[in-house]
This record gives sequence, structure tokens and C-alpha cells, in this order.
Amino acid sequence: MKPLRTAQDLAINGALPAFEQPLHVGRPNMGSREAFIKHVSDIFERRWLSNNGPMVQELEQRVADLHGVKHCVAMCNGTVALEIAIRALGLEGEVIVPSYTFIATAHALHWQAITPVFADIDPHTHNLDPAAVRRMITPRTTGIIGVHLWGRGAPVDELQMIADEHGLKLMFDAAHAFGCSYKGKMIGNFGSCEVLSFHATKFFNTFEGGAVVTNDDALAEAMRLMRNFGFSGFDRVIHPGTNGKMIEVAAAMGLVNLKDIESVIAVNRHNHEAYHKGLSGIPGISLLTYDDAEHNNYQYVVMEVGDKCPVSRDWIIEALHAENILARKYFWPGCHNMQPYRELYPHAGLLLPNTQHVADRIVVLPTGTTMDTEIVHSVTSVISVLINDRL
Ligand SMILES: *Cc1c(COP(=O)(O)O)cnc(C)c1O
Repeated sequence: MKPLRTAQDLAINGALPAFEQPLHVGRPNMGSREAFIKHVSDIFERRWLSNNGPMVQELEQRVADLHGVKHCVAMCNGTVALEIAIRALGLEGEVIVPSYTFIATAHALHWQAITPVFADIDPHTHNLDPAAVRRMITPRTTGIIGVHLWGRGAPVDELQMIADEHGLKLMFDAAHAFGCSYKGKMIGNFGSCEVLSFHATKFFNTFEGGAVVTNDDALAEAMRLMRNFGFSGFDRVIHPGTNGKMIEVAAAMGLVNLKDIESVIAVNRHNHEAYHKGLSGIPGISLLTYDDAEHNNYQYVVMEVGDKCPVSRDWIIEALHAENILARKYFWPGCHNMQPYRELYPHAGLLLPNTQHVADRIVVLPTGTTMDTEIVHSVTSVISVLINDRL
């Protein structure tokens, strides 16, 4: 192997193109500024700023229609939506979740004195491994939260079978899966309910926001009460509750961004294809693919650095950052290695070899509507030069 040269050395030698502006993961997708300002102006006219306003109601209807699901209950963010869904389902004791997910999946349980029990993933799909879920069931288990990681459906049928066999509730963290499908059916229709996130970095955003989608009338009604302090009418509180309401200005952003989702998908898809082309043939590098037979939002470009790669994942990230390509590790080092779980369950990692393996090898690359195939091509040639230089 040649002596180590830094990315800067390579750049000085003219081997690398330099990016003047940093390239980010999760740069917000934003629709028409004019349309948004018009909506805000309407909000000023109405003086209806929050509390289930007309824009929130319209957004709920559209999101429900888009996913072919009966109810959409909009909330202030995805985490509060998770917390409310978990509580409305009556989960307690232990709930099985993946560790390879955003920390909010685990926190939403711990926040309510429920124990998140981490089950391992399938190293190929990055989603929960049903066999691992079975191994984690105890007499205290009340539910399973599957995560549709990267927008690719969790093993819904197997998880439902396990839940039915053991009398467990099943819900999904669908924060990545807006507009996606699983076996031809839209996300939103699986388990008791599914939780969407509309955070700024997600495929579809309302600045901050989220929702629970469900076909269960009673569950939807309970969650509507819970997000508004349990109020039913002006002076009547009939349910425990919190403040999980979405504000009008957030819904306005959502209505604007909804108009663009097809074009955002097209851009994401082109970028993903360009990455796939540009990275193929680089030793040890592979790209997570999407099943084109399903609806996908192609929001995440997930590269895996395998054992045949001559440099480490962390070296690649460092080198890319030196080039202003702000690629990211994702869900590293796994929820079980973050507090408070690391201290509470110091041995959890022993049962999570695939989680550890994947978390140590993943690089999420910049994408979104501010990128195009030409920029992607420059990024992949940087990666190619960096790695081939070390062969
Ligand atoms: C973003 C995200 C959340 C949290 O959503 P917020 O809207 O940011 O609160 C939960 N789970 C997963 C998998 C996420 O990616």
C-alpha cells in the first residue's frame, strides 16, 4: 500500500475537484416561497394560528389521502407523535425496538418509563430481524415498534405474525417512509398505527412536525384528545393529554411542500442513480438499493464500506469533510451505546452484532434538491480517487 496521503494533498495535486459550498446530508427540500407567503398572509387574515386550524385540517386530509389511510393526526413533531401513539396504544413494561435507528424511537419509550428492548437487525436490509425480535420477548413485553429505515419497509408480515402470536401491539416509526410503499401497499396501513416525521431534514417537512396515521377510529380519536390536553369542547377535559398540536404556519409549509413531492422524488432518484453508477466498481464500496417496484422517496443515499475497502469508514468521512463533502455516519454507535441506555443496559451490544457491524460501516452521502447528477458525479470521483489512491 502507498504511504498515506491526505485528501488535502490530493486536492493540492489537482487530483480532486474542490467544492466551494459545503454539500450537506438532509438539506431541506423547500417548495415555492411565494405560495408560502400567500398562505402566511391568509393566516394573518384569519387570526387562527393554532388549535386544529383549517390548514392543519387540510394537510391531514391530504396526507391521509396520499397514503390511502383513514386518519392522519398532525402533531408538533415526530417525537411527540411517537410518544402519543405509544401512550394511546397502552404500551407499558418492555417494548422491542431496533437499536439501529434515530434515538427518538427509544427515547419516546424511556420518557414514559417504558423499557426499550433492543433487537438486532438484518445486516442486508438494516431493518429489524424477526428472529431477533422473537428472542427478545419476555413476560413484560407489550409491544413492538418497527422502523422503516431509509424508507424501506420493515418486515411487516413477520412482525405482525409475532405480535399476534404473543398478544403484542405493533406500531411503526415511519419517519423515513413518507410516500413509500411495502409490497405494493402504502406505508400508513400497517400495524395499529404509523408515525411520520416532518422535520426539516426529512423528505417532506413542515419546518418541524409529524403525524400519526391509522385506520383505527378509536385510536385516532384518543390521539386527537391527547394532543390537545384531553379537551373535548371549551370547558370539558375528558382524557389525559399533553400539547402536541401542529401550528398553522407549519401546516402552510406542508401544503406548499406537498405540491413538489413528485419532483423531489425525481431529483432524489436521479441523484441516487448517479451515485450508483459513480460508485460501482470501487473496491469494498456498495450502495443500498431501493426496490423500484415500490414507491420510494429516495431521500437517503446509504453507502457501505466493506472489508475489501483499503481505507476505513472513518477515514473516508474525514477525507470527504476535508473536501467540503459533509457525509455523515448515521445512527452510530447505535441507541444502545448512547445514554441513558449505555449505562442502563451495558451488555445490550452482545446481542446486537449486526447493529454494530452496520453502524460501523455506513456513510450517508449528500443528496436533495440542491444537488444534481453533475455534482454527484464530482462526489463519486472524489471517493474513487481517495480510495484508488490507497490501493
Ligand atoms: C426524525 C426521526 C424521528 C423524530 O422525528 P422528529 O420530527 O425530529 O421529532 C423519529 N424516528 C426516526 C427514525 C427519525 O428519523
